[in-house]
Amino acid sequence: MALLQIAEPGQSPQPHQRRLAVGIDLGTTNSLVAALRSGVTAPLADGDGEVILPSAVRYHSDHVEVGRAAKAAAASDPLNTIVSVKRLMGRGVGDVKQLGGQLPYRFSEGQSQMPFIETVQGARSPVAVSAEILRALRERAEAVLGGELVGAVITVPAYFDDAQRQATKDAARLANLNVLRLLNEPTAAAVAYGLDREAEGVVAIYDLGGGTFDISILRLTKGVFEVLATGGDTALGGDDFDHAIAGWILAKAGASQDLDPGTQREVLKIACDAKEQLSETDTVEVRYADWQGILTRPTFNELIEPMIARSLKSCRRALRDSSIELDEVQAVVMVGGSTRVPRVRERVGEMFGREPLTDIDPDQVVAIGAAIQAETLAGNNRDGEELLLLDVIPLSLGLETMGGLMEKIIPRNTTIPVARAQEFTTYKDGQTAMMIHVLQGERELIVDCRSLARFELRGIPPMVAGAAKIRVTFQVDADGLLSVSARELASGVESSIQVKPSYGLTDGEIARMLEDSFHKANEDKTARALREQLVDAQRLLEAVEGALAVDGVRLLDQEEREAIESQVRELRELLDSQDGVAIERQVKRLSQITDAFAARRLDSTVKAALAGRRLNDIED
Ligand code: ADP
Ligand code: MG
Repeated sequence: MALLQIAEPGQSPQPHQRRLAVGIDLGTTNSLVAALRSGVTAPLADGDGEVILPSAVRYHSDHVEVGRAAKAAAASDPLNTIVSVKRLMGRGVGDVKQLGGQLPYRFSEGQSQMPFIETVQGARSPVAVSAEILRALRERAEAVLGGELVGAVITVPAYFDDAQRQATKDAARLANLNVLRLLNEPTAAAVAYGLDREAEGVVAIYDLGGGTFDISILRLTKGVFEVLATGGDTALGGDDFDHAIAGWILAKAGASQDLDPGTQREVLKIACDAKEQLSETDTVEVRYADWQGILTRPTFNELIEPMIARSLKSCRRALRDSSIELDEVQAVVMVGGSTRVPRVRERVGEMFGREPLTDIDPDQVVAIGAAIQAETLAGNNRDGEELLLLDVIPLSLGLETMGGLMEKIIPRNTTIPVARAQEFTTYKDGQTAMMIHVLQGERELIVDCRSLARFELRGIPPMVAGAAKIRVTFQVDADGLLSVSARELASGVESSIQVKPSYGLTDGEIARMLEDSFHKANEDKTARALREQLVDAQRLLEAVEGALAVDGVRLLDQEEREAIESQVRELRELLDSQDGVAIERQVKRLSQITDAFAARRLDSTVKAALAGRRLNDIED
């Protein structure tokens, strides 16, 4: 790897503010965004006072609709209205073919084996559809909280694989939302109940949503949740309760079970309303066409018993998979709208032999847990007992190299703790000190990045430029603390500094910097290339001219010397040309012609440096 040179840097300020962060439950059926406001963590409502955003996206020819209105159009405009897109996240074309029959959309294949959904606006990937939901939630949060978000904790099912997690992150990026962390849904629910503050124990999270059932067994040790087992059923949820009631209605009404899609939606809507009412009352009156009747809770309980039984079977399997005995489970947390059904609570309580936790609204508990975590990750709880457990680095960390360039040492989204080292070298002959300027950001030029700290490494033994090897190590511990150390390898001189990454960044700055880096990537590349060539050229010129002055006569014959001098002149003339390609070519020519000379000099100086001189004697 090429050694990069480091020299004196410029200045930059470090402002400081409270950082707005939210938790997002990106659900199959419904999504929510929650945040801490005046001491309370709660979901944020839209203009109509609704906190739940149905996870439905409808494409019109000139705009996109998200939420309730979109969901209502699912029957009338099924091809352009995407529901349950979460089921498609991170899936390949093959997986989707398997889900095939159930989905009303027209799929096409993208280049990346990703299924695309054909809409009036053209082909849309599941990531893009999800991004619409996230964008709606981000806009809601920014309107309510009155500022740009520094980031969000987004929850995903514990069983989501890398591709599904990556797809979720990509969706966030498309929605211009910085992901502080992807958090497992069951972990978020446990955090909402403050179970992470218990010393240790095993908890079960029973999550029955609209179309999916998840059971997770978590073990808590010192504030860290380990997923022992997950299980469930991707085709079991409140929708099945609706279908059961709808079947009952049609049977009672003596109507055909074979309905056109519009009528079917209508019956399902009636069934769903009846179901939700039965969570509060013992009987409910049901009307369909010219039939009317009473649905009692016991009848409803009978209808759904097979489904509850299936969920309990999954629970027992998950316990077995995790080698956990029933009596080891210290808490059972209820998550998902369908756990409002009293019979579900009863049956789960019976099985685990303990009352499940239901104090927090089961629709909201995941978003609330995510918001609590987001506050901590955004660094707003610095005085509390809570540790700043950043799991990824939000922006890349690196240092300044010659020409005002940012060299990334640890790329953003690297999980912590982490340590990375890279070797650098000196710029000038006889250079004995080096300024290490620590930066954070995604851009190529340091003026576009944030300065975190600077420190000096002194006592480098004087050598020709490029001979010293300085190893710079970046280390971020589990608390998100960065320390940087620099060590000259031949002499062992060392220097280091501790910095807190990301604290120097204000609200929205992270988002802005990221956005910038995407837009400016090409511009940056050209600027970087030219600067790099200029730096190369300058360094080479200084090195060669310096070397000629000191050793030109001693180590070269006249012919060699004149050949080098003429190439030096040509390179000098090219410096103002802005012609990166020509400069690069001439740098190559000059370094080739000076190779032998450099080797002779390196031999003689390294021998001298290692001859046992004391560092103090040679420091400047
Ligand atoms: P998801 O996690 O799949 O996005 P939710 O957790 O929001 O879904 O749950 C949605 C399901 O909860 C729907 O089937 C809805 O009908 C059901 N539900 C919501 N409120 C109630 C209630 N009061 N009683 C029974 N079921 C309810
Ligand atoms: Mg859910």
